[in-house]
Amino acid sequence: MTLAISTAFPQVVPPVVHNYPHLLVHYGELALKGRNRHRFIQRLIEELRAKCRPLGTCRIRMLQNRIWCAFADAVSWDTLSAIARNTFGIANAHGMWQTLPTLAAIEAQAMACARADNFDSFAVRCRRVEKQGALTSQEVCIRVGRAIELATGARVNLDAPAWTLWVTLVGQDAFVGCNREEGPGGFPVGISGRVACLLSGGIDSPVAAWRMMRRGCRVDFIHFHSAPFTSAASQEKVAELVRLLARWQGIGRLAMVPFGRIQEEIATNAPSAYRIVLYRRLMLRIAESLARAAGCEALVTGESMGQVASQTLSNLAAIDAVATCPVLRPLIGKDKQEIVDEAKRIGTYAVSIEPHSDCCQYLEPRNPATHSSADELSVIEQEMNLAALVAQGIETAAWQTIG
Ligand code: ATP
Ligand code: MG
Repeated sequence: MTLAISTAFPQVVPPVVHNYPHLLVHYGELALKGRNRHRFIQRLIEELRAKCRPLGTCRIRMLQNRIWCAFADAVSWDTLSAIARNTFGIANAHGMWQTLPTLAAIEAQAMACARADNFDSFAVRCRRVEKQGALTSQEVCIRVGRAIELATGARVNLDAPAWTLWVTLVGQDAFVGCNREEGPGGFPVGISGRVACLLSGGIDSPVAAWRMMRRGCRVDFIHFHSAPFTSAASQEKVAELVRLLARWQGIGRLAMVPFGRIQEEIATNAPSAYRIVLYRRLMLRIAESLARAAGCEALVTGESMGQVASQTLSNLAAIDAVATCPVLRPLIGKDKQEIVDEAKRIGTYAVSIEPHSDCCQYLEPRNPATHSSADELSVIEQEMNLAALVAQGIETAAWQTIG
């Protein structure tokens, strides 16, 4: 199978070797058992199509068990590797040049790559995808390895090479390149449905949102703020977190919900020890209504068992009691350090630790209760005009699209 996009064979590598006309994408095999395989691949192809579209003409098709993106004009590895890193469902991806499946053509391409880089040790890794090809991977590794050794003086190191040449043989095509990027794995965004994450601006909830995206959910965001009692900067911070997370799914929809008046109502009418859990129950009711209207099937929070007083088992149960949709807590069994490490890895940590005033710090009780029950909280809530408070939150919510 040969694409009509490239004009001549063998392609001569231009001076910029790290610009590639082909991206070969491997998806996570483990995720692909059973009937979901086709849906998974189609969703990943749609996602890649959307991300490759701004880069010019690009044809995407299956090549055995890889997804093959062929660009009319070579694209820089910086751009291609960012796509690989930020697209869920990708296990890894290679920047490639296409050439004839002959030893001479592969060697010529390999030498052009090798001459463009400096390295003192290297490995040649060859994969033959179809068994009926004329060449074996062994032949390619030996011939190309020897040529690189002679031309550069570098030695072969198969365990920890400073530089690696990748060759893939597929039927009548050979692909050669020297860049590979690990993908994030998981499922393509959207395949598992849509959820809404309660995003606070702290460290945990962005990580929770990312974890659900990685499991294939498209995530909308809901933030409660206490303006004018809390600063505008905390809203900007949350918008910045959504912008960072939107890299993984294209755009992020964010609802800003004014919460200060509701908090005042709770502070006036309820024992202070129960305030935080009552805030959460109000947040959940408002968030569920907004989420359902936006087409979301579940809520997501960054809560983790025992992290703070409001996250004990009985308090979480009392919070959950007001929701009729599933409340997903992907961080429930993680300790803080694990969450911090993940926040650093996905790039949200630096923004999360910027100082901000979350609405829960406003009118925060000195001794929050570590135990409550849905029944006793319902009795307290009867002192308030709950329906009006929830309606007010829903009516004053403002959606924006970021990314
Ligand atoms: P985070 O958990 O995001 O680091 P935090 O630890 O300050 O922030 P907690 O008090 O632990 O927040 O809140 C637990 C969860 O409740 C958050 O992870 C988030 O899902 C939700 N939440 C708290 N405050 C808000 C808010 N102002 N807007 C939206 N969701 C919130
Ligand atoms: Mg937290």
